[in-house]
Amino acid sequence: MTPPCKPDVLDCLVIGGGPAGLTAALYLARYKRSVTVFDAGRSRAEWIPKSHNYPGFPSGISGRELLLLLRKQSSSYSISLINARVDGLDRNGEFFEARFAGGTARARTVLLATGIVDVEPAIEGHDEAVHLGLIRYCPVCDGFEAADKRIGVYGAGSGAVHKAKFLRSYSREVALVPSADDALDEHDLRASGIKLVCAGSGLRIEQRGIVISCSEGDVAVDVLYPALGCKAGSILATRLGARSHDTGCLDVDAHQQTTVPGIYAAGDVVSDLHQIAVGTGHAAIAATHIHKTLPPNPR
Ligand SMILES: Cc1cc2nc3c(=O)[nH]c(=O)nc-3n(C[C@H](O)[C@H](O)[C@H](O)COP(=O)(O)OP(=O)(O)OC[C@H]3O[C@@H](n4cnc5c(N)ncnc54)[C@H](O)[C@@H]3O)c2cc1C
Repeated sequence: MTPPCKPDVLDCLVIGGGPAGLTAALYLARYKRSVTVFDAGRSRAEWIPKSHNYPGFPSGISGRELLLLLRKQSSSYSISLINARVDGLDRNGEFFEARFAGGTARARTVLLATGIVDVEPAIEGHDEAVHLGLIRYCPVCDGFEAADKRIGVYGAGSGAVHKAKFLRSYSREVALVPSADDALDEHDLRASGIKLVCAGSGLRIEQRGIVISCSEGDVAVDVLYPALGCKAGSILATRLGARSHDTGCLDVDAHQQTTVPGIYAAGDVVSDLHQIAVGTGHAAIAATHIHKTLPPNPR
């Protein structure tokens, strides 16, 4: 069968093909809107060994498997999925124009679901350790699975302290390993039951877990949560004037529209609560508002 012709101007261009972007595309396609998804192929979901907090999967589901299912679901609709990074976004009259290595694409609206990129610790074998669940990035996601383990939090500033305090709900043995010379409130940490370990001069992976080498001797933890921050993928929108918070996340209204009319955002690029359920919720809200604001599309 000949595929339907793609219109010159799309109803929506989705940038980012993680859970948020794919969900938005699915909703838009089901509203009979023309939609193309551009994806640079670095979804954080790819890193999830097994998620136990995404509803509907009582035995858990790996991030890869979930993405495969979402892609499969998208493929039953007329959604174009292009494996390419969007390098620039411009406004051209009433349309938006996205530039990528293969050319340009025009759309009436844009939905940014570009996620974030975590700052990773310098540790040999990092990727394998994430897949094994030795290094974890999301206490909200998998703190439950770290219950009663020896937990280390490696990072700086209030972000690391908050993470360590949050993890105390799961374990009595939570250690904070400062990654930088930080003026930490030792009294507060002690009162919260958090052990302050030497500034991490070196991290390595061993059979007994992650080992932090200190001048006073090695300290081993079963699980390490880096708290080194992240970079939000908001630049395509902020270059067009969209407002962002000091975290880098995009400022959106109740419909997930950024401060630039016609540009929407969903998922990690919007919220500090980096969760698949949050991202897919954003996507449903954004896609529905996009559909309602576009010219009607009666059959
Ligand atoms: C180790 C780990 C475990 C986790 N466990 C869980 C869990 O158990 N439960 C849970 O709910 N969440 C979990 N998360 C968080 C979850 O992965 C994210 O919240 C989710 O992936 C966010 O979805 P998203 O679509 O917003 O962004 P992403 O999934 O990160 O997708 C963004 C996509 O946009 C692409 N992109 C970026 N810029 C461009 C561009 N310019 N052009 C084209 N494409 C672009 C990226 O390459 C990427 O593919 C975990 C995360 C990690 C790292």
